[in-house]
Amino acid sequence: MKVLVATALTQGEHEGDYNWCIEGELVWVQEPCAIDRRNPDGPCGCGRGFAGMSSHRSTTTARVDEIPGFTRDDMILAMQTSLRDGGWPEHWAADLVDGLLELASLWGVGTVIDRRIDDFGPREVHA
Ligand SMILES: [Zn+2]
Repeated sequence: MKVLVATALTQGEHEGDYNWCIEGELVWVQEPCAIDRRNPDGPCGCGRGFAGMSSHRSTTTARVDEIPGFTRDDMILAMQTSLRDGGWPEHWAADLVDGLLELASLWGVGTVIDRRIDDFGPREVHA
């Protein structure tokens, strides 16, 4: 199953990049704050970020990865745990996971994507 994970790949190639996540941890997408909804390139940065499920930190770069044997149910469990630890409602988990899996399905394994609010797109990866 294809999922989105945090990556340091391509970090620094775009102005406003940041990466406080653990390499390879699962990420999810949070609603941006009101400030970032108006300007995702601003100092907060949540409108261009992906949230790490384990670290509860964030990054501007996510990578499509294939985790063999990992299922939607596994991911819902991981999401529930992360939401509970982060103080978010656990019942968000299934909807969030379905959205994330749909997003991950759009690109090939290894693709690095970034975000502007609700726009997600691939970055060019230089070897
Ligand atoms: Zn923000």
